[in-house]
Amino acid sequence: MIPESHPRYKSLVTREKLAQYTKTGIVSLEGLTAHGRGEAFDYLLGEETTESALRAEKIAAALLLSANHPVISVNGNTAALAAKEIAQLQQASQARVEVNLFHRTEERVQAISDLLQEHGITLVEGAVSRYIPLDHDRGLCHYDGMYSADVVLVPLEDGDRAQALIDLGKKVIAIDLNPLSRTSKVATVPIIDEVTRALVNITGFCTELGQDEITRLTEDIHGTGFIRDALEYIRERLLNVLD
Ligand code: ATP
Repeated sequence: MIPESHPRYKSLVTREKLAQYTKTGIVSLEGLTAHGRGEAFDYLLGEETTESALRAEKIAAALLLSANHPVISVNGNTAALAAKEIAQLQQASQARVEVNLFHRTEERVQAISDLLQEHGITLVEGAVSRYIPLDHDRGLCHYDGMYSADVVLVPLEDGDRAQALIDLGKKVIAIDLNPLSRTSKVATVPIIDEVTRALVNITGFCTELGQDEITRLTEDIHGTGFIRDALEYIRERLLNVLD
């Protein structure tokens, strides 16, 4: 039992939740280590959304709303941490949702799909093929899902697939706390923020943005600026940490 008075209460509850989800196969053991890397960067970022990340989240909402065929790709950690937030974003953006796993087994796909559907998410279903040219299972996707997408939101992604999606001509919105990751570097819009915070903000913008603003926000996107901002923010915090 984690006492609510613990100064790291939220983080400990999240860790416990993820550990529980390893028992049902929704989160892989490797997923726990990926979470640890994310936590480390969130610590450096002060565990709150920066102004720069909020701007990226607004652009992400505009991209999803302007897309012909937006898709949200969900892996085990994202499902465990943010099923409710994905459901809300699907409602607000009308994006399709597709399960995509690096450590893929039919049992894991089923367990994650069940969890997402329990939260009211409609999934792209049916057969998958290796439409994304990768020699691991992140390459498997649905024809009606990621293969046909023009904008793909990829929370907690690996760099290989983010690059492959860009090479296929898609716009990629990444959510990754690591500003140095290959994913952040190649994404059209790298959102350097924690996944639940980011999804809530994107959903909020989806309900607010008008057509003129959507057009303006999607005209000229400079992803690397968000990486610079995050690194500068971390640098400032580190320099002032003992003041
Ligand atoms: P690269 O993009 O450089 O190829 P990788 O393939 O090694 O990175 P993964 O192991 O797939 O990356 O890890 C996914 C990323 O997700 C990590 O970089 C980590 O910072 C990030 N991450 C983990 N948990 C969260 C979270 N809750 N919110 C946002 N990002 C997170």
